[in-house]
Amino acid sequence: MTRRLLLTLVCVFAFQSIMAYAAAPANPLRKLVNARKAKWQSAKREIAQNVPAEKIKALIVDGQNNHNWRATTPVLKDILEKSGRFSVDVATAPTKKDKEADAEKYKKDLASFKPDFAQYDVIIGNYNSSETGDEWSSEARKAFEEFIKNGGGYVSYHAADNSFRNWEEYHKMIGIAGWYRDADTFGKYLYWEDGKAVTSDEKGRCGHHGPQWAFLIEVRDTSHQITKGLPKEFRHCQDELYDCLRGPAVDVSVLATALAPKDKGGRDKHEPMLMAIPYGKGRIFHTTLGHDVPMLKSVSFIVTFLRGAEWAAIGKVTIPVPDDFPGADKPTFRH
Ligand SMILES: [Zn+2]
Repeated sequence: MTRRLLLTLVCVFAFQSIMAYAAAPANPLRKLVNARKAKWQSAKREIAQNVPAEKIKALIVDGQNNHNWRATTPVLKDILEKSGRFSVDVATAPTKKDKEADAEKYKKDLASFKPDFAQYDVIIGNYNSSETGDEWSSEARKAFEEFIKNGGGYVSYHAADNSFRNWEEYHKMIGIAGWYRDADTFGKYLYWEDGKAVTSDEKGRCGHHGPQWAFLIEVRDTSHQITKGLPKEFRHCQDELYDCLRGPAVDVSVLATALAPKDKGGRDKHEPMLMAIPYGKGRIFHTTLGHDVPMLKSVSFIVTFLRGAEWAAIGKVTIPVPDDFPGADKPTFRH
């Protein structure tokens, strides 16, 4: 009995000593455990910061465009959703066909078209009102302006910069374009020259492109979230190279340019292809690329579009530059 009691006491003493040793802050075992725990917690924090659990809410607006919006919207939606970063809705405005079918009904429907922008992080413009020449209601325009001013994002995709001829605030948002405006008098030209973006009041046409070809894009801002990590030069697919865009050109960050030579219908200037523009607390990503569905299969379009949309939505980019991103020699595609 005494031996059993003695054994029990020894066991209790030993257990307490081990527990006290393990709990002591200075002991190496404790230090190791704490270090591992801190490292794990910091990794967990990093994952949480870099890959936000919540998806970005995007809204594609279409319905009018002198481009193939019925075919390109599903592809844009697919690109965004497949990245795993976005959930996507589509708002389709009354169309040109609607106008032709019943002009009165169309007029009424367009007057009441006002997507609930505030529900989203970013609006993707696949909309070009020049197809009908009809503008949105002042309520819809005001709601859009307020959405961006309050920190929302907008992506002006290709011919969306042809839209809203008379909406001055829209032209401030997209920086330059000016299609269908009065040549010579509308805003300024913006292009890249001698290592910097320059503006010019020079007279001349407003918005133009030559024949499609596979042009070289040069990154001009390697520190911007959207272009950081991209090759300095990359070959875009056969596409329209927009030149001679002009507009308010206020606070436009020219992220990447392409040379539009005279023999391709250009004016031998390095024209802005990718731009970032602030508006109030909001952000606009302006990409001139992506005329039609085949161009939306090019990796240069897909990746710059995704990164631009993410930046416009949340002000930073977590989407990586993939291995199949093109270099300077030839474009790459995904099918
Ligand atoms: Zn086009």
